[in-house]
Amino acid sequence: MLKHQLTAIVFISILLLLKIISFFIVIEISYFILVAALWLAVVLWGSSFISSNYHVKSYCSNPLETEKKIAITFDDGPNPNTLLILEVLKKHNVKAAFFCIGKNIEKYPEIFEQVISENHIVANHSYGHSSLFDFFRKSQVIDELNKTDAIIAKVLGKKPLFFRPPYGVTTPSIRRALEVTKHKLIGWNVRSLDGIIKNEKIIFNRIIKRVKPGAIILMHDTTFESVSVLEQLLLFLEKNNYKVVAIDQLLNLKAYEN
Ligand SMILES: [Zn+2]
Repeated sequence: MLKHQLTAIVFISILLLLKIISFFIVIEISYFILVAALWLAVVLWGSSFISSNYHVKSYCSNPLETEKKIAITFDDGPNPNTLLILEVLKKHNVKAAFFCIGKNIEKYPEIFEQVISENHIVANHSYGHSSLFDFFRKSQVIDELNKTDAIIAKVLGKKPLFFRPPYGVTTPSIRRALEVTKHKLIGWNVRSLDGIIKNEKIIFNRIIKRVKPGAIILMHDTTFESVSVLEQLLLFLEKNNYKVVAIDQLLNLKAYEN
């Protein structure tokens, strides 16, 4: 059973129990409100953290990996800044994964083609990256996924099987949509916060503090800071005998159809 369903059963049971007890003794309405508020808090917590597996099973690392192997992922491209990221990856001979936004691929098709020609993994990160994605219905989520799959397949010749939702937020609609589209939900367990923090040293320290075998690092190829953080990170990983592997290899999952 999914955690979301289990939570609903537990909280509905508590509310029913309170209702039954209220036939015998007076229970103030504030108790009912408190239980409902707690329920809402649990739902919001579970929806906000992809690694909670609250709505959908997600792949956020390989916990069984014992060797010093990790994967690096970039969200929100392609974008002119992606070219700088590609340069650093090439210099260090590292294969990363790019979770691309469909409309950005349409805007920068040559950059997307370059990502593919340099043998990086590409995956689906929705079509529009809407700030309202959490409120999309199942059909809207399916549309977003199919549209971006088609854009990727036009260049690559095959459809991606990996999806990362905008902001890492999951919802019941996303779960139901994934049952149709069959994408695997890919998260992370090392969040660089490179989209929020502007200080390269802080971003770098955040990452290296959290790196361990099987880790998946989340970065963004859209911010300038990420370029130098990536350079420092790859040097750190080399020095500490970490190997950056492709994400499909780290997770033992197929990244594409066929
Ligand atoms: Zn994103």
